[in-house]
Amino acid sequence: MRRLPVYFVLDVSESMVGENIKKLEDGLNSIIRVLRQDPHALETVYVSVIAFAGKAKTIVPLIEVASFYPPKLPIGGGTSLGGVLYHLMDELDASVVKTTYEQKGDWKPIIYLITDGKPTDFVNSAIAKWKADYASKSTLVAIALGKFADMSILSQLTTYAMTLENTRDEDFKKFIAWVTDSVKSHSKSLSDSPTEKVNLAKIDESVLSLVKDARDLRPADPDYVILTGRCQRTRLPYLIKYERNAQAFNLQEFSMDLTHFMLSGCYPVGEDYFELSDGDTTQLKVNTSALLGIPGCPHCGNASAFGMCTCGGILCLNEAGTVVCPWCERKITFSAGADSYEGFDVNRSRG
Ligand SMILES: [Zn+2]
Ligand SMILES: [Zn+2]
Repeated sequence: MRRLPVYFVLDVSESMVGENIKKLEDGLNSIIRVLRQDPHALETVYVSVIAFAGKAKTIVPLIEVASFYPPKLPIGGGTSLGGVLYHLMDELDASVVKTTYEQKGDWKPIIYLITDGKPTDFVNSAIAKWKADYASKSTLVAIALGKFADMSILSQLTTYAMTLENTRDEDFKKFIAWVTDSVKSHSKSLSDSPTEKVNLAKIDESVLSLVKDARDLRPADPDYVILTGRCQRTRLPYLIKYERNAQAFNLQEFSMDLTHFMLSGCYPVGEDYFELSDGDTTQLKVNTSALLGIPGCPHCGNASAFGMCTCGGILCLNEAGTVVCPWCERKITFSAGADSYEGFDVNRSRG
């Protein structure tokens, strides 16, 4: 039996933390549930999941639908699109059976690449290699979540570059249904009349739009700020996420634009966060006066997850006193009321 390899290459960078990562996990779950009930898919479809942030990792190696167990997705720092393309090319070399004189190999693999960010590495050489050696031997569908993904790069990579601008529950469900239908109709067409032509389901243009001219798309500032802290008691990492909230103030005497970032949540992550992060030290800085809201520690319940050591590390705090910094191991003393209104610069992760 010739297999139809389906790869889900998923962006698990920090900007996905919270709602989006949950939607992806649920989405993957629902895709597999439907495919398991489809006789054609059960026979031919093999699924693999690759997660990427600053680094890429195969979370589920290519496996038949019936044995696939939807994974919990990790989170990492950075968005290495170049890195994940190289990882994917290695993975295709290693796991797809090629057609030879002796045997019929696998069907042309189909890859669903889902990302919401802008690449933080240099992707040109990876794209060139992909186009030269892999593009004709596989079908890559690239889907950008939200308005801020870099479509000029995704559309260089494939003619199937699409955006899902709105990631509200309802639209996301339609998107997942589209992926499911595409996999189903593709596996059915292979058993009806074997062809190398890919069959994607019809696109609901109100939800998903095909990028026609990437030159029209402006690069945008990211709409979030993410800070990485460590709990001083458990030493485990967490992510504090702020979302852009641009407000125009119009008073009689003057008008001004103020961009603030509102707290949207504080999420515990595991030590594998660092495993998938690129560890790049060229950080962006953000002034804390632009950040509104201070969360508690998601690990130990300390009142503030936003203390800062002189080493630049962010840690959780409860009250004034001396603590050991979980980043640099130095003893630091916090005094009551030390918070100033001037704000201070903190290192911002890069999504
Ligand atoms: Zn804590
Ligand atoms: Zn420190």
